[in-house]
Amino acid sequence: MRLEGKVAVITGGASGIGQATVLKFVREGAKVVIADMNLAQAEEVVAQVDALGFEGSTTAVRTDVSVYADVEAAVARAVEVYGRLDVIFNNAGIAGGKPLLDHDPAVDYAPMIRVDQDGVYYGILAAGRQFRDQGTGGVIISTSSIYGEQAAELSFTYSAAKAAVISFTRSAAYELAEFGIRAVAITPGRVGTPIINQFSEDLKSTFASEQLRNKMTAPEEIANVVAFLASDESNVINGTVVHVDDGYSVFKQRLD
Ligand code: NAD
Repeated sequence: MRLEGKVAVITGGASGIGQATVLKFVREGAKVVIADMNLAQAEEVVAQVDALGFEGSTTAVRTDVSVYADVEAAVARAVEVYGRLDVIFNNAGIAGGKPLLDHDPAVDYAPMIRVDQDGVYYGILAAGRQFRDQGTGGVIISTSSIYGEQAAELSFTYSAAKAAVISFTRSAAYELAEFGIRAVAITPGRVGTPIINQFSEDLKSTFASEQLRNKMTAPEEIANVVAFLASDESNVINGTVVHVDDGYSVFKQRLD
């Protein structure tokens, strides 16, 4: 129960890493607003949580993280329903891409930047303001990616947005420390979620072979780390990147 009494907003909480984190957070005693574009699926997660015996621990809200007013409203909902905010997990994201020279900027750049980059900025801003106004401090955890730290195939825009997430995290930690606010980015490797399950079995097995345990990471394994980062046990982890990639970066160095 290391998150007992804490209130969190989890964006992208209707699926994958976000969904696993919602379940982990409520098991650790938190109340959670599930802020997702897909309201129906977010409501299914609420029902799943209720069925586990944690009735009233979660609230679903339709949120498009690329719209600041939506993110602000998700934070406001946490305060309205649960009285405060302690943690935001800026996790909603979309993936995919084309070779750079095939890009149509209107299709292959701006829309992804709006979700994967602007969405995190909005989460930091809305939660940061709430933490400051509450006078309690808070924790901002944001999902980057291994691609935020390296070039990769078909990932020009995605890598840019995920690199921005790391930069936002450093700057937010630096600028908001005076309010008792911490910021941490995580870089998942290959996690078995719908975002990756769309790929062929061959590609998925290549992905798995690029991690040191030679398997996909389970979303629950990422959620365990996020719960630790959200807790007071990780108070000295601030402004940095926590690599949750099962040694992917070591693997790449080994090849070089
Ligand atoms: P997922 O597709 O299972 O979940 C993403 C969730 O985000 C969905 O519920 C979706 O409805 C929601 N979403 C999408 N656009 C949104 C928007 N504009 N506003 C609000 N919600 C929106 O994928 P996942 O793998 O759990 O991805 C979660 C995060 O992890 C993403 O930021 C992704 O880039 C990152 N990531 C995933 C992997 C992986 O291997 N799965 C690796 C590195 C990073």
